[in-house]
Order: sequence, then structure tokens, then C-alpha cells
Amino acid sequence: LVAQAPPPAAKEAPVDCIFCRIVAGKAPSKKVYEDQYVLAFWDIRPRAKVHLLVIPKQHVASLKELDELPVETRAALLSACVRVAKDQGILDKGFRVITNAGKDASQSVFHLHFHVVGGEQLREDAI
Ligand code: ADP
Repeated sequence: LVAQAPPPAAKEAPVDCIFCRIVAGKAPSKKVYEDQYVLAFWDIRPRAKVHLLVIPKQHVASLKELDELPVETRAALLSACVRVAKDQGILDKGFRVITNAGKDASQSVFHLHFHVVGGEQLREDAI
């Protein structure tokens, strides 16, 4: 048996992070789901009929830092993506889950988030 190292202690959230402000209730959002680990809300500039964001409440900058999150949060993130897609009625026809990590991926908000996109036929090469 190999003991799994615990994730490092949560870092202090940057004060200027817009998604941390949403988590703290200091900035508005159209919430669709929340539990102790994650929050899901509408993207402010939807690029499809359904365009939601699923984020961990604990701040990490991107998927590159995934291992800094407790395993419960990592699991909750993907489960929430499926759950909000179901709640929006887009599970059966199909949906897309995307996360942009870093400069080449055009990440613009540096708080990990999964785009959950659907509700219409999506182009193969874009969300
Ligand atoms: P990109 O902007 O290239 O999609 P990201 O993957 O970092 O890069 O996506 C950030 C997303 O966050 C964008 O879709 C943007 O519209 C959204 N966004 C930015 N600010 C807010 C906000 N205050 N509330 C909801 N969504 C936001």
C-alpha cells in the first residue's frame, strides 16, 4: 500500500480574483448549483444557448494546479459538470466540457473553471 500524500494547505485566495469574489458573494452571478466544494453559474458572455462555468470554491489558478485540491473537490468538479448539464436538459443531446489552462489555451480568468456548453449543435472546432 502506498500512502497518498495529503494535498498542500489551501493557499490564500488572491483578493482580485473575480471568481473568488463570486464565491464570497462579493460579485454577482447567476448561480445554478452550489455545494460545499464547488459553484456553478452562467458565463457572463454565453457562447452557446447553454454556457455555464463550474469552479472549485478553493482557489487554484488552472488545471495545472489540480493536485493542490482535495480529492473530494476534484471529484465534485466533474460530477457538478454532469449535474448542471442534466439540470439544463442538455444531457441527452450532448454537451461539451472544456477547461483552458495557460496562455496557449487563451485562459483569461486564472481561477480553475470548466465550461459546460450545449443546448445547440456545437461546431467541431469551437465552443
Ligand atoms: P476565455 O475567455 O478565452 O474563454 P477562460 O477559459 O479563462 O478564457 O474563460 C473565462 C470565462 O469567464 C469567459 O467565458 C468569460 O466570459 C467568463 N467570465 C469572466 N468574468 C465573468 C463573470 N464575472 N461572471 C461570469 N463569467 C465570467
